[in-house]
Amino acid sequence: MSITVRAPAKINLHLGVGAPRADGFHPLVTVYQAVGLCDDVTAAESPGWTLGVTVPDWIDPDAVPVTGANIVDRAARLLADHHGVEVHASVSVIKSIPVAGGMAGGSADAAAALVALDRLWGLETTDDDLLALAAELGSDVPFALVGGTALGTGRGELVEPVADPATWWWVVVPSDQGLSTPAVYRRFDELSPDAPEEPADARALLLALATGDPVILAGALHNDLESAALDLRPDLADLLELGEASGALRGLVSGSGPTCLFLAEDADAAREVAARLSESRSVVLVTNGPVAGAHVVTYA
Ligand code: ATP
Repeated sequence: MSITVRAPAKINLHLGVGAPRADGFHPLVTVYQAVGLCDDVTAAESPGWTLGVTVPDWIDPDAVPVTGANIVDRAARLLADHHGVEVHASVSVIKSIPVAGGMAGGSADAAAALVALDRLWGLETTDDDLLALAAELGSDVPFALVGGTALGTGRGELVEPVADPATWWWVVVPSDQGLSTPAVYRRFDELSPDAPEEPADARALLLALATGDPVILAGALHNDLESAALDLRPDLADLLELGEASGALRGLVSGSGPTCLFLAEDADAAREVAARLSESRSVVLVTNGPVAGAHVVTYA
């Protein structure tokens, strides 16, 4: 038997970041949206454990850790330990989400692996347990299970779905060099020594979502990590400007970057912005959201 689970990339429509807590984590108030860039994780029966990763030509294969260091290994061990079973499966990951790009690709793979291995091993883990295991793996992993659009609090691991009836069109421009999330938070601390304890709330963003109007959403997008990412990668400011000059309603850095996102009026406008950006950038993707969280696509 083999099971394929698909899990989406996330973008942060609102990312409010507070001063670091005593445990070193930054408190967040974020609005996540799952978008249609997805990784597929296939788990098949096997007496031992193997993990293979396939990437498209625009992702550097060396950027994805090999078996033993991959977040999928950790997900498998955590799930197996929780149920007292042995780790045994042959797992393959097909990546389409930029690596170290601020779109939580590793988190998507971890969420997909939890679901695929739960089914393969017949464990019937409850949703609450699956979410708790996901939160142990990383702050963005619970959202990759839930998908859609959700408010994230705590360090982002406490997720609560929110209404988002429209379809929003995005142009995504990955960078050929990743940016380390901890490095971006360190620069945020340096640039914002008086960051508030309570992160900026997401009220304006949630109201904008409810209008279904992309012009209003464009005005409400918010990312407190953007200045830190731009400080580390000043070239991204030129890209944001170029996207807006090419017809995007708004450009912003995705999470901790360096992937840049451009909100477009509709599907046709997104394709036009993408065509313009493609004149100077080698990888330009068009996608939309919200889409579902980790879900089974094939049982064979
Ligand atoms: P986040 O915003 O959640 O920190 P990100 O989107 O910036 O993440 P990821 O693609 O999740 O970045 O990768 C972060 C790091 O995780 C990478 O530098 C990589 O070394 C490691 N990693 C471990 N497993 C994976 C995986 N399956 N796919 C991608 N990266 C992985």
